[in-house]
Amino acid sequence: MFTYDIALLPGDGIGPEIMDATLLVLDGLAAGIPELSFNYETYLIGADHYLKTKELLPEYAVAGCKAAHAILLSAVGIPEVRFEDGTEIQPQIMIGLRKELDLYAAVRPVKLYPGVKSPLGNTGPGIDMVVVRENTEGLFASFNGGAVVNNQAIADTMIITRRGSERVIDFAFRLARRRSGRPSDGKRRVTCVDKANIFRSLAFFRKIFDEVAVKYPEIGTERGYVDAMTVHMLQRPWDYDVMVMENMFGDILSDLGAGLVGGLGLGPSAEIGDDYMLFQPSHGSAPDIAGQGIANPMALILSAAMMLDSLGDKYDDALAARSGKLLDDSVAEVLAKGEGLTPDLGGAASTDELANTVLAAVRQRINQGV
Ligand code: ATP
Repeated sequence: MFTYDIALLPGDGIGPEIMDATLLVLDGLAAGIPELSFNYETYLIGADHYLKTKELLPEYAVAGCKAAHAILLSAVGIPEVRFEDGTEIQPQIMIGLRKELDLYAAVRPVKLYPGVKSPLGNTGPGIDMVVVRENTEGLFASFNGGAVVNNQAIADTMIITRRGSERVIDFAFRLARRRSGRPSDGKRRVTCVDKANIFRSLAFFRKIFDEVAVKYPEIGTERGYVDAMTVHMLQRPWDYDVMVMENMFGDILSDLGAGLVGGLGLGPSAEIGDDYMLFQPSHGSAPDIAGQGIANPMALILSAAMMLDSLGDKYDDALAARSGKLLDDSVAEVLAKGEGLTPDLGGAASTDELANTVLAAVRQRINQGV
């Protein structure tokens, strides 16, 4: 039996509601699988906590995250809670955490679940790709730094390093190895997304991609310019498996991807480093619907499924990986049936009701020995 220590960051807005819903499902999963258990520790960081304490990212919370096997975060930040210069506190917390934990690969699955409508008329053999975004450098490297010239000019510099690129590109290839290829023909493929025709920094990124690719001869490769990629993702998304790119490009393409498969309410994500890993939904804290009991918990539940899969990979624990798949399949089943969904998905169920529907699907699969 393996007990995983999970640091919980429920955050702001709908964060605590969707965290409760997700824990209901996770606890139900662990109750049905005696060899799997979780030990939770909760840390209150976010806009609410900042208002009460003026603490942004307290040391004890960072230490607790570092001591855990994984971190599960709901959503941090409320737009009205800002510093005196007018900027939001959310980026300070998230970028601070990313830097502290050196979470260099942001992973955003773009998967169209049966029963979910895509704005694309034609989804061909399906959509199931992953955007891997470099998460520590690129155009975000000089965050809060950069050159400021007498209130006349400001520069944010694109920083591409060999180490930063090698490790995220290598991560993308290892991820492709664990997946079952692109929907169009099942071939494993990593696509390097850049603008290597214009920028020396991104030509360097592509050069490193070519060097790393040599280590993975069994995985196909492709290179594309980011502008063209926005069109290909709309016209033939089924041709993509794993895509890897610089930080800002990843920020944009992962939201485009979310739009292709039903929006942010269904988008999980992971931020992975060599020592730590954090899982969170793609959406924000949705303060407009907080406290109403109607938030959709699916993105956090799917993030928990990714967490189990990653724990399985990191600790060589096949049962954790299988449990992650069971959870993902249970969500897929609920979406395909299309009953008991929250208002954003066209239903009338509450957050708790949807969590219980997913829990019932999980229990059924466990009972059937799936
Ligand atoms: P951030 O900048 O913090 O990522 P955002 O500006 O993208 O946030 P969100 O908080 O994600 O904004 O909310 C955008 C819209 O989507 C809001 O109308 C919100 O109510 C809705 N929304 C977001 N997440 C959910 C959810 N889990 N369930 C239902 N509606 C949601």
